[in-house]
Amino acid sequence: MTGNSQTQLDAIQQQILDNNVCPELADSATQLVFGEGNPEADIVFIGEAPGKKEDLQGTPFIGAAGKFLNEMLDTIGLKREDVYITNIVKYRPPNNRDPLPEEKSVFMPYLESQLEVIKPKLTITLGRHSLNCFLPDLKIGQVHGQLESYQGRVLLPLFHPAAALYNGGKRQTLLDDFSLIPAILQKTTITA
Ligand code: URA
Repeated sequence: MTGNSQTQLDAIQQQILDNNVCPELADSATQLVFGEGNPEADIVFIGEAPGKKEDLQGTPFIGAAGKFLNEMLDTIGLKREDVYITNIVKYRPPNNRDPLPEEKSVFMPYLESQLEVIKPKLTITLGRHSLNCFLPDLKIGQVHGQLESYQGRVLLPLFHPAAALYNGGKRQTLLDDFSLIPAILQKTTITA
């Protein structure tokens, strides 16, 4: 692909519209929620699918889970503008139901293209849906906070911030896992 990273990302977003991906979800959703942040970020966060607020605003992770994500970024000295945030499924599923396997698989090539453009040093999956799109056999409860690799990418599986909102134990686990990110990034930079 040619052009700068943001132009390339814009082109992928347009492809989703042109290819009429997931027409049922597109019909029930307000809009496409493609992704937000630095198109040349070292870290890409991948959630599951937009919720109500995200659907209305067109921006990923701006509800309660997003606030916690912002807080966690803050603990390691990062802002949203420093990273790139997206989801597997780019339209809100009705009533926030779990995305269906076919909805996840139809969006995967577009997510792969986003990663191809951004080329992050670290790809962070949030929650089991996101992890299992890359590595279907792994269990989030067993591998969270542990580096994995997927087709040459360095992947860090974390719990979904929404799962930690009302569970103090998970919240602390997520914060502990988050605190590993700066050292991982430094190491990845040295060995890259
Ligand atoms: N949960 C997600 O997985 N993604 C969002 O964008 C918001 C909540």
